[in-house]
Amino acid sequence: SGRWARATAIIKELEEKCGTPIGKLRQVADAMAVEMHAGLASEGGSKLKMIISYVDNLPTGTEKGLFYALDLGGTNFRVLRVQLGGKGRGIISQEFTEVSIPEHLMVGTSDALFDYIAAELAKFVAKEGQDYQLPPGRQRELGFTFSFPVLQSSINSGTLIKWTKGFSIDDAVGQDVVAELSKAIEKQGLDMRVSALVNDTVGTLAGGRYVNGDVVAAVILGTGTNAAYVERAHAIPKWHGLLPKSGDMVINMEWGSFKSAHLPLTEYDHSLDTESLNPGDQIFEKLISGMYLGEIVRRVLCKIAEEASLFGDTVPPKLKVPFILRTPDMSAMHHDTSSDLKVVRDILKNVLEISNTSLKVRKFVVELCNIVATRGARLAAAGIVGVLKKVGKDAFKDGEKQRTVVALDGGLYEHYNEYSKCMENTLRELLGEEVSESIVIEHSNDGSGIGAALLAASHSQYL
Ligand code: ADP
Ligand code: MG
Repeated sequence: SGRWARATAIIKELEEKCGTPIGKLRQVADAMAVEMHAGLASEGGSKLKMIISYVDNLPTGTEKGLFYALDLGGTNFRVLRVQLGGKGRGIISQEFTEVSIPEHLMVGTSDALFDYIAAELAKFVAKEGQDYQLPPGRQRELGFTFSFPVLQSSINSGTLIKWTKGFSIDDAVGQDVVAELSKAIEKQGLDMRVSALVNDTVGTLAGGRYVNGDVVAAVILGTGTNAAYVERAHAIPKWHGLLPKSGDMVINMEWGSFKSAHLPLTEYDHSLDTESLNPGDQIFEKLISGMYLGEIVRRVLCKIAEEASLFGDTVPPKLKVPFILRTPDMSAMHHDTSSDLKVVRDILKNVLEISNTSLKVRKFVVELCNIVATRGARLAAAGIVGVLKKVGKDAFKDGEKQRTVVALDGGLYEHYNEYSKCMENTLRELLGEEVSESIVIEHSNDGSGIGAALLAASHSQYL
């Protein structure tokens, strides 16, 4: 019928516009490497902020003692403590708690957010068992993982550049987030020093390096997306400080804000961006990360409902609600292996209140999920190749047999198997069989929190 023809035409057009042939991905990877150079050359030289993290030494395994971490970055925050055993001993014990952030605090005031977090931190510290030993007379020390763009001024200070991922707290922008947190901690009557402020990518890199000495970069694919990697300090023209002894400096790329004419953008992406909390910003993030994939699918479904009456003569009202279709629902539909696509049926019914769908319609929805996830995953792979290019690990060097490990973390990477599989296959496709053998993707499970605790240890006031 005419409906089907129209619906099929819309999806065909989407597929074309979302296309990521290998040549395009190479252009994206090249553009990423070029922007990395530009962002390192001067402050504001690129959409990529290429933030100097002040981490010039990654964990070595000798870190010792009791340290805390607080990981704030998306829908939840985590508080953890780790007892580090020192050389050869690794992590002796660790404990964490996870708390969701009430939505009103994501768009309220800085004080309200930090007071809430500090109160949870104080509760956590109050419930400490015998396994955890703080030497007498010592102050507790914390690594603060904060996954928003911060202009760092030292290892434990930095001002918030802007919010991303659904957060919007105006009075916090431009403030030193460590000062804000410390003030709130003090209000709780808790005696704790913030020894390290790290982005989650930097934390993941540190946590990854602690377990594997070959880790040189970290990528987060969660609510948002970002990457960090080890740069040679003399290759950072905008760095005017002393060259660190190690010769290295970890760079927080803030790659979510990457933008390039080579990115395959559709009308759905343009309207999503325009109607977002941060129009014009975080374009790469809006194509590949968990906060947005489900929303892109919803927008396409909405258009098909309007123009091809896919779900009947009227557009189902729920389908018009922004962000109602979450990426975990999208991935559940995408992974549905039942012959009658029951999972798709149930999600359409329960989330979007669309009942009585035919198998044909459900198949259509799965195809749509596949198109959107595939584009995101392939672009993520191109981003990683861009980083490998910048550090010279994207091609074989004579006699070089060293493994290069990229630590990956984030709920999207962890749970959306079709996505991570596609990303890893694309990486192989881009690098070629031979080079691929020396590049390893390693899942760094919750490395960002532990990494922050490790960096708190290596920047302890008692060293
Ligand atoms: P954050 O990025 O908020 O720090 P996570 O790394 O845990 O936290 O990532 C959470 C995000 O991962 C969610 O917002 C969601 O987009 C994505 N996600 C979680 N579970 C799934 C899933 N089953 N399938 C696809 N995406 C998921
Ligand atoms: Mg996180």
